[in-house]
Amino acid sequence: MSEPIKVGDVVMIVRWPHACQGGKYLGRVYTVHFLFDHSTCSRCNHTFWQTVGALDVEGPGVGAVPLAWLKKIPPLDEIQRDRLTDEVRT
Ligand SMILES: [Zn+2]
Repeated sequence: MSEPIKVGDVVMIVRWPHACQGGKYLGRVYTVHFLFDHSTCSRCNHTFWQTVGALDVEGPGVGAVPLAWLKKIPPLDEIQRDRLTDEVRT
């Protein structure tokens, strides 16, 4: 679970400390398409020096989001495997 976020991962935006966009993307789930060294806010030109992932799923994405704002969601097959293991145990 503590593996670094990489391209193809499903992530949820769990933090939005930046004032621009008003956190309207908070709680949404996206797929990571790119990883960048840094990116710039399209509204206020603030540079985020952390590594960021550009996200896109179902229509327009949110551009780039710092990795620190994201929580990785385990793939569905892992969740199902855990559930199956639980069922076998009980
Ligand atoms: Zn901004």
